[in-house]
Amino acid sequence: MADPRRWIVIGAGPAGLLAARRLAAAGHQVTVLEAEDEVGGRVSRIRVDGLDMDAGAESFATRGGYVEALARELGLGDRLVTPSGDPAWVVTAERSFQMPRAGWLGVPTASLSRDVVKALGWGGALRAAADRFLPPEPVDPEDSLGEVARRRLGDVAVDRLMQPVVSGIFSRPIDELRIDAAASGLAAEVSDVGLVKAAKRRRAIAPAGSAVMGIDGGVFHLTQALAADATRRGVRIETGQVVAAVTHKQPAHKKAQWQVVTEQSKWKADEVVVAASRPVAAALVPQIERAPDKQVALVTLSLDASELNRHPRGSGVLAVGDVTRAKALTHASAKWAWVAREAPSRHMVRLSYNVNSREDLSGYAVADASRLLGVELKDSQVRDLVQVTWHDAAPTRAGNREPAPGLHLVGAAAGFSGLAAIVDDDSRSTLGS
Ligand SMILES: Cc1cc2nc3c(=O)[nH]c(=O)nc-3n(C[C@H](O)[C@H](O)[C@H](O)COP(=O)(O)OP(=O)(O)OC[C@H]3O[C@@H](n4cnc5c(N)ncnc54)[C@H](O)[C@@H]3O)c2cc1C
Repeated sequence: MADPRRWIVIGAGPAGLLAARRLAAAGHQVTVLEAEDEVGGRVSRIRVDGLDMDAGAESFATRGGYVEALARELGLGDRLVTPSGDPAWVVTAERSFQMPRAGWLGVPTASLSRDVVKALGWGGALRAAADRFLPPEPVDPEDSLGEVARRRLGDVAVDRLMQPVVSGIFSRPIDELRIDAAASGLAAEVSDVGLVKAAKRRRAIAPAGSAVMGIDGGVFHLTQALAADATRRGVRIETGQVVAAVTHKQPAHKKAQWQVVTEQSKWKADEVVVAASRPVAAALVPQIERAPDKQVALVTLSLDASELNRHPRGSGVLAVGDVTRAKALTHASAKWAWVAREAPSRHMVRLSYNVNSREDLSGYAVADASRLLGVELKDSQVRDLVQVTWHDAAPTRAGNREPAPGLHLVGAAAGFSGLAAIVDDDSRSTLGS
């Protein structure tokens, strides 16, 4: 190639590994600096009761087919799996009910079906169905999804169905989420046809089959395969390197040069890709916009609990209001056949919590799991408990992805969330070309 350059990539999560692989394929000299001892970032592994499980992401959206295609390219095609069809449940202070089967982002698309009436009562279901008869209204992309949905469907449908789904996906209250941040172009569609019809359309264009997929053995295999592939292409991956400073020099008549400093060494580069979370990125480089840091803690329990064999709450539970400290629960042994196979005669359950600090949640986990699963569990049934806390759980879009010449933001640093969005963004990238 005409102009091979030295690149440093900060962070070996999925976005950093994808960027490194792309740059190496274009002929550049690439070094990835990763703070942890293992690659993967939020798509990495933890060991719970002798089983390697996903520490963060445990599935990916099938939307666009981007992640599936990447997994196949990396030789993981025969390990792609879909979750069990068990619907999720919702638990409120007053009731527990199955999430209606027909819906999109919690919007019930068959408003008067039995499961919707069971969830909302006749009053709530009729109010949600009224959306179809309300006159269209102009909706701005900046409007709050919660406010629009409350006008169209009523509070009951929003609080019981949409809020738990939205907060599970976006880690923020529905009233604080911009409608077009939830789904691009949604404001225009709702202005045109109302919310239920817009949701129906979105559902109809979604590919047949499951909206999410996983990988037998955990989605962390994807980042491990990406790292192996990047290394094969000549990328040097340095783990245990916490980047502490990034500075920029412009020596006379020379190209701009970056210096990246870790505790152990100093690295020089022509260009830098920041693929660490935004709070870290903004602390390292003053030109990068700051953004709020929402944190999520995951507590994974291994339980001796044959009472869970019947999967009392399907694949998992969304909690509404202050019913528990946890906001959601995944019954991993019910959701993923590979977990049940690899951890027979025990149940793997994962609870997620919104937190403001690294607080210890082990004191809440058993009571929260009992309440959400509708089964009385005792501390003595816990075989293992592992907590992981993640920063920047709801990344904010960066206004400028190249805030200084030769400095590039990818993945969460640029505001992308979820493997599908990150892989899609990478596939459109012109980085290094
Ligand atoms: C709890 C949770 C559950 C999720 N579940 C899903 C899911 O099921 N499906 C899905 O698609 N998405 C999910 N996501 C989102 C998904 O994990 C992220 O969108 C994705 O991992 C972001 O990738 P990234 O490479 O940009 O950042 P990260 O994965 O965060 O990787 C950043 C890397 O930078 C490293 N780093 C940080 N600071 C430094 C430093 N100073 N020096 C060097 N390296 C540094 C980190 O150690 C890390 O390895 C989940 C996220 C969370 C928090």
